[in-house]
Amino acid sequence: QADERESMFLVSEYARDYFQNIMFENEQGKAIGLSYFKERGFTDEIIKKFQLGYSLNEWEAFTSEALNKGYNLKHLESTGLTIVKQDILASNGTKQFDRFKGRVMFPIHSMSGRVLGFGGRILTQDKKAAKYLNSPDSDIYHKSNVLYGIHYAKQTIAKEDNCFLVEGYTDVISMYQSGIHNVVASSGTALTENQIRLINRLTKNITILFDGDAAGIRASIRGIDLILEQGMNVKVLMFPDGDDPDSFAKKVSNEELKEYLNNNSQDFINFKVSLLMDEAKNDPVKKAGLIRDIVISISKIPDRIQQEVYVQECSRIMDISESVLFSELAQINNKVK
Ligand code: ATP
Ligand code: MN
Ligand code: MN
Ligand code: MN
Repeated sequence: QADERESMFLVSEYARDYFQNIMFENEQGKAIGLSYFKERGFTDEIIKKFQLGYSLNEWEAFTSEALNKGYNLKHLESTGLTIVKQDILASNGTKQFDRFKGRVMFPIHSMSGRVLGFGGRILTQDKKAAKYLNSPDSDIYHKSNVLYGIHYAKQTIAKEDNCFLVEGYTDVISMYQSGIHNVVASSGTALTENQIRLINRLTKNITILFDGDAAGIRASIRGIDLILEQGMNVKVLMFPDGDDPDSFAKKVSNEELKEYLNNNSQDFINFKVSLLMDEAKNDPVKKAGLIRDIVISISKIPDRIQQEVYVQECSRIMDISESVLFSELAQINNKVK
């Protein structure tokens, strides 16, 4: 079993080298893959650092090469790099093809830097194909336990005692290029408990930097309670409408980015209030719902003293008495038990 997993790591790391090699040496790789990353403003240095690559737009270019090199079809299939299908017309009854075709490739690393899987981004505007395709879960890759970029970020997360959490691969890479190294992404899944646990080993402080669109806001709200439940501190920072961390980082200087991050992060209570208050202001029913929503978040905090501090804060900014909030909180706390 351990041997099997090691073989899966080795074939994944071969694939990483192969995709990198294609992007830097092959004509199609250079013309399509490398120039795509260049157009997005990524430097050679950062492209190499994150081991980015390109998969040829062919049916089984990678699989044939890997088999020639002696890698086992079994491991190519179990890592999801190769798809094997029944085919009654084929001489051996099956046909095989590459999962990733004509995509720029983002290797996904473990905490210690081993390659677990890939994300691949399509380059055409084809609306039917998914923008990102990811490796399937396997014996070495469990999406919900993995944070993209953690291998590069872990030291700085501990040193800065804070972790920036973003949505996508390119957000991590752009922020890194702009000098912010304590950044990881929950790529491919909604944020999970286990992903937060990985961060919890390094710092108690998370700043959520999600996209400035409806989906990003929804994802931030979901993330907040999960983080509070683990006794961690959570701040939220939204980008101007339509921007994500990548596009924003590309528009401003490194200093301006750092300043924006320092000056615009909000405590989760302020975030929830300012987000929902506008629509709830003149509507007592909505306002009550918002207050309950915030008290539910506060009830997730394991530490009672911290709960009390947040109740005071909530009372102040929402202009509602502490005693009402405390009785609401007590009710929720009792229900949970
Ligand atoms: P880009 O800047 O390259 O267009 P993005 O990271 O801004 O990409 P979003 O649409 O904001 O892309 O999505 C955030 C993340 O969600 C992606 O980085 C990717 O990990 C994941 N994702 C997006 N679309 C898909 C998809 N169709 N299938 C699987 N994962 C996806
Ligand atoms: Mn988005
Ligand atoms: Mn985005
Ligand atoms: Mn983006």
